Amino acid sequence: MSYPFKEIEEKWQKAWEKQGSFVSLPDPKRKKYYLLEMFPYPSGKIHMGHVRNYTIGDVAARFKSMQGFNVMHPMGFDAFGQPAENAAIKNKTKPDTWTHKCIDWMRVELKKMGFSYDWAREVSTCDSPYYKWNQWIFLKMFERGLAYKKASGVNWCPSCETTLANEEVIDGACWRCHTRVEQKDLEQWYLKITEYRERLLDDLQGLSNWPERVVSMQSNWIGKSSGVQIYFKLKDTGETIPVFTTRPDTIFGATYIVLAPEHPLVKNLIQGNPQEKEAKRFIERVSRESKVVRSSSDVKKEGVFTGSFAINPVNNEEVPVWIADYVLMEYGTGAIMAVPTHDQRDFLFAKEHKLPMRIVIKGPDSLDKMTEAYEGDGIQVNSGKNKNSAVDGRNKNRQDRDSLAFARLAYLPSALLGHAYPHYLLP
Ligand SMILES: [Zn+2]
Repeated sequence: MSYPFKEIEEKWQKAWEKQGSFVSLPDPKRKKYYLLEMFPYPSGKIHMGHVRNYTIGDVAARFKSMQGFNVMHPMGFDAFGQPAENAAIKNKTKPDTWTHKCIDWMRVELKKMGFSYDWAREVSTCDSPYYKWNQWIFLKMFERGLAYKKASGVNWCPSCETTLANEEVIDGACWRCHTRVEQKDLEQWYLKITEYRERLLDDLQGLSNWPERVVSMQSNWIGKSSGVQIYFKLKDTGETIPVFTTRPDTIFGATYIVLAPEHPLVKNLIQGNPQEKEAKRFIERVSRESKVVRSSSDVKKEGVFTGSFAINPVNNEEVPVWIADYVLMEYGTGAIMAVPTHDQRDFLFAKEHKLPMRIVIKGPDSLDKMTEAYEGDGIQVNSGKNKNSAVDGRNKNRQDRDSLAFARLAYLPSALLGHAYPHYLLP
């Protein structure tokens, strides 16, 4: 059977338009049904993904209509943001001109598909009747102190002159033009979603009908961990380095200190040392790296020795102070005590640079058999023998060791112990 779609479809599409078949008007006699599909991004052409997606929505809308519902089925365009600016750069035109041209063309194509949209309700997120409401919400947040400005590091492509999302940095280069990506500090607006992180965590408990996977994804995203600041003193100058740790229970296993390359102490530490040149080259190189890559636990960790030593406050051991790419200034205090036996990133780094290791929580392997850090629970060992630091043999559970109380157990002099506070992955 042949189907002369050109004649048939054109005829009925015209008729529907003339009759206003899909225009939704108030009608108290019928039950309302609102059906909304996600708006397409106006890249210029409808593709098969759109056809499939919007056909499913259209079938649902027509079905509900035939069941007697008063269906409202609008359409619009998700038309703001960086992709529009990038497309405009590529096509050598203004984002406004380019975006509206694309919208006009896609509307024609969507209409040819015969979808049952109420086109009188079309919105484009780049038009002021729509985005004035975004601005209104922003102003409300600003008035309540929930919107603020601060400088922060972004991925910057010097050739495209745009910022790039982490996903758009491929092997340290711009996905579009392959130029090496730089880290640049730019003033940006932030919304204080962090004000709500505790509430979010609490309310997750109430989501009893949600899949466990979704709930745990949300809670991992907030990433709350309890930690404590401990002060290490520099051997030569007596200057203090506050380190942040979520595992004060492993302090007897801290065999070196790592500072973020951006740490304010670094400049003085390396000045005049034989390592100064190498360290400066390293800091310069790291400043161009993506922070996501730097802090991931499966990428090779790089660093340089500063030439200085610090004193571990619980056993007075001298530990070397390093600078490494895997410590970020944004995390805690920008300085960590490295416990290679019980932290995977410290483990990788210590192996790479042949730094000493000491087991302080008993795990399945001995030191020479260890192929990765043991981050689990266990009996405390090698953690002091005399009365004043007697924590050996305590069976710690995760709750205990996360607490400030534990740090006190190791008999840290209170002058070397900072305050306890939670740390969140969600910055
Ligand atoms: Zn580029």
